[in-house]
Amino acid sequence: MFYDAVEGISRDSLAALQTERLRRSVATCLASPFYGKRLRALGLGPEDFNSPDDIRKLPFTVKDDLRAGYPDGFLCQPRDAFIRLHVSSGTTGAPTAVYYTANDVDSWSHLVARCMHAVGLRRGDVFQNMSGYGLFTGGLGIHYGAERLGCLTVPAGAGNSKRQLKLLRDFGVDGVHIIPSYALHFGHFLQQEGIEPGDLKWRFALIGAEPHTERARRRIEELLGLKAFNSYGLTEMNGPGVAFECAAQAGMHVWEDAYIAEIVDPVSGEPLPDGEVGELVMTTLCRDGMPLLRYRTRDLTRFIPGECACGRTHRRLDRITGRTDDMIIIKGCNVFPMQIEQALMAMPEVAPNYLIELYQENDMDQIRVKVEIQDEVFAADDRTRAALHKRLVARLRDEILVTPAVELVRRGSIPPAEGKAVRVDDRRVHEDCRSGA
Ligand code: AMP
Ligand code: ZN
Repeated sequence: MFYDAVEGISRDSLAALQTERLRRSVATCLASPFYGKRLRALGLGPEDFNSPDDIRKLPFTVKDDLRAGYPDGFLCQPRDAFIRLHVSSGTTGAPTAVYYTANDVDSWSHLVARCMHAVGLRRGDVFQNMSGYGLFTGGLGIHYGAERLGCLTVPAGAGNSKRQLKLLRDFGVDGVHIIPSYALHFGHFLQQEGIEPGDLKWRFALIGAEPHTERARRRIEELLGLKAFNSYGLTEMNGPGVAFECAAQAGMHVWEDAYIAEIVDPVSGEPLPDGEVGELVMTTLCRDGMPLLRYRTRDLTRFIPGECACGRTHRRLDRITGRTDDMIIIKGCNVFPMQIEQALMAMPEVAPNYLIELYQENDMDQIRVKVEIQDEVFAADDRTRAALHKRLVARLRDEILVTPAVELVRRGSIPPAEGKAVRVDDRRVHEDCRSGA
């Protein structure tokens, strides 16, 4: 029933497996310039780890550590042991690189294959990867997983909707991997082409790599006529294949034989009980080349309490609700861009693309939301548009507790992103910029 027997292993056996693999990872880390120094300074070795909770003896690893170690300060093997590297998309600051040995690529591919199997894909299915290749892990990571599962794999890459559609039809594609913002865009493209949701053979879409709401998922499912499954990963933890929804679509199982996942209070760093939202902290358990211990992902989520209907014992993560670092403060209110998407997606008149503009007026931070609306509404009379405008402002105010400026724009006037959608255009001038710091 499962791809891998370990998916249904008892919690006790899982803890034993985690402990054994944690010890091995710590032993491997002694060879890395960064961790070797740190572990020796703390006087810690593999023998100090006798349960998964002993991980708390270790300090966190943060993005700045990886940046400082760029490009190779975290490697635990000789250079010629590595066969691949990926670089995190890092929208801010310096890049971070992750290196993989042949074993690492192998165990990563296995995890991705396991995820695809969990949603219902099988050997012999046709799978089209509609996300960008290159340094982004959603390309090769998903690709290798699909091949591992035994799917006929179509490396379509991102964009060029007409060609995507031709491939989907010509090869009778069963499943795709697609970034949510492109999925919404592609859904509207299909409408324009006169293609009904049931016209294509496809049944599964793996969607991830960027935050999206439950409403956005449902909208993708309606527009494309398939089931969409949330897929979570980050370059530092290999890429996709870290946590994935099963057929129950009730949260993402995080593969606890390959990672130790913790949810901590972002301020105190203390662990939080299941059910409480905090920052996800991850440790790799199966990586030879570049293990990471207690890496702070900056992603906010929670463990979903209770068991999943599918019988897998690995705990489930809830949808990522934001980052510890994307919070915007407007008029004293904390605003997460996701809340804005949530409000917009609830309105059928709204087209998929929108942009949050942050700017300053009278020395105050202001927020303006540019919203693309459906052609019929845009072409309607002034009164209809004014009424929609009023409803949108009210809805956004209810959600974020401040009144944003809202501008309704024609569909297609916000340039679609090539890769991950850019939802926030921050034009604020900060003190540190003015002083040239
Ligand atoms: P990257 O390493 O560039 O692929 O970026 C990884 C980041 O993308 C994660 O830390 C998350 O913030 C975000 N991300 C990836 N998958 C998801 C998902 N399914 N839902 C929300 N955010 C995601
Ligand atoms: Zn499940």
